[in-house]
Amino acid sequence: MENVLFVASECVPFIKTGGLADVVGSLPQALKQNEQIETRVILPLYDEIADEWRSKMEYLTSFDVKLGWRNQEVSIFTLTHDQIIYYFIANDYYFTRKGIYGYYDDGERFVFFGQAVIEALAHLDFKPDILHAHDWQAGIAVALANILKPIDGMKTVFTIHNIKYQGLMPIDTFPDFFELEREHIGGMEWDGMLNCLKSALFHADKITTVSPTYAEEIKNPYYGEGLDPMLIEREQDLVGILNGIDTREYNPLTDPNLSVNYRSARAKKIENRIILQKKLGLPIEGNMPLYIIITRLVEQKGLHLVQTILEEFIQEDVQFIILGTGEPEFEHYFSDLANRYPNKVSALITFNEGLARQLYASADFFVMPSKFEPCGLAQLIALQYKTVPIVRETGGLKDTVIPYNELTGEGNGFSFANYNAHELLRVLRYSLAIYHYQTEWQQLLRNVNKSQFSWKDSAHDYSNLYEQLVPTPIYR
Ligand code: ADP
Repeated sequence: MENVLFVASECVPFIKTGGLADVVGSLPQALKQNEQIETRVILPLYDEIADEWRSKMEYLTSFDVKLGWRNQEVSIFTLTHDQIIYYFIANDYYFTRKGIYGYYDDGERFVFFGQAVIEALAHLDFKPDILHAHDWQAGIAVALANILKPIDGMKTVFTIHNIKYQGLMPIDTFPDFFELEREHIGGMEWDGMLNCLKSALFHADKITTVSPTYAEEIKNPYYGEGLDPMLIEREQDLVGILNGIDTREYNPLTDPNLSVNYRSARAKKIENRIILQKKLGLPIEGNMPLYIIITRLVEQKGLHLVQTILEEFIQEDVQFIILGTGEPEFEHYFSDLANRYPNKVSALITFNEGLARQLYASADFFVMPSKFEPCGLAQLIALQYKTVPIVRETGGLKDTVIPYNELTGEGNGFSFANYNAHELLRVLRYSLAIYHYQTEWQQLLRNVNKSQFSWKDSAHDYSNLYEQLVPTPIYR
């Protein structure tokens, strides 16, 4: 038996701000296909985690965690959900706050989290062979696992879900946080800063990221966010494994959020659309092509391109709905556009899972022109709801969306190469032309219906990676 402990800052169904939570929630389920692996997950116990879950948690133990001169009490709670055991690290000072990120001391909060995870290992009823940490918030756990060796022979895997967010702090906080020899500064410092993500890249036994294309891209300065030299240094241990989605969870046939469930029938999608149009006050026109965006409103998602051309594009006979929250610049832009074009545009400035599902179910096209995209789950969810993705060819978008080819009839979406607003406009217009050309549109929809992005193959790749690090007894 191989024990794997996931360390992460978010996880569906408990707490989610983005795709990371979907992956941390669904990969342990998928790993069950290998009976030799048992995966458990450890997370912070945020205030935002609903009572529905808290009431199911059992208290496990308490202990003190030292963070430099600070002494903080930690309690560990646990619950089992869908046959997976979860541990929650509770601490009033760091995690009893509104929301989960965005505090001036986020760096300190997740250094604390890393330290607490390492100390928790002595108290858990589970001895990991592999500590598998996700993104910068879990990076310090990897560094400390390698330096302090809390469990004999325990190996580490670190997965980069997004290299842009690194967890940076002034380097002079090092002695303030860690009781480590100064020789360890080198592994945790980058460009004069204490860097949580780089600490993990330096210390992990294996590094993965969430698509083959992104694994290549981040070795280049354009995508590497300053860490490309570090990734080149470690390229022998770096591999890209595509994310999947939980196809039980994202299933239009059973999704309770939808007004009308369907397998692939367009007529049923249109019924959903009409109900949505009524709800949002858009003109009720079932056959009007509907383009949607569902995203965090940040520059990464290509929203500057959208801003440049959207007003021109909506002069066509189309409707457009955006669902998202984030930077005020984008929130204002979309709200203003919706005010000026109430018959064409709806701007839903909120985070709402149920509404997201209704949008995926109602739309014809899902627009995702990201500047960079490690994997992207939204385009996979769109495909699952038989909505055609329109993407920029980067990272996981390039690995999952094949542009429609009129000559061969292949492809499950539309794409463009350069980060250029007029390339986006051209491909939006092209998608509309194909929509109105019945033979081509039907062929494209057949391809969309066949697209499958379950976890099966990727879970197999992770199993193999674990196996390389810690061969299970049957192979010994
Ligand atoms: P990222 O992790 O960079 O945010 P992904 O495409 O990997 O991007 O994952 C985004 C996830 O968050 C998808 O499940 C998407 O449906 C969801 N999501 C994004 N914005 C919203 C929102 N405003 N309301 C509901 N769900 C959202």
